[in-house]
Amino acid sequence: MPDLHIPSQRPRTRRLFRCALCGHRLRFGSSQCGACWSRTPLYNRVGFYRGLGVGLVVLTALGFLMSL
Ligand SMILES: [Zn+2]
Repeated sequence: MPDLHIPSQRPRTRRLFRCALCGHRLRFGSSQCGACWSRTPLYNRVGFYRGLGVGLVVLTALGFLMSL
């Protein structure tokens, strides 16, 4: 029976994007790169998507009101 190495823990941090300057994988939600400390793009922030969602709801509500 071969001894299969199965990792017992999966990495808990989600790294979706890379730093534009140094290519370091950015921790999702952080506002600074972990390697070169430059500011990360807006789409790496949690608040960006929260604001996007709120904006969409407001726009939908406005569009609904305009159509009345
Ligand atoms: Zn960087």
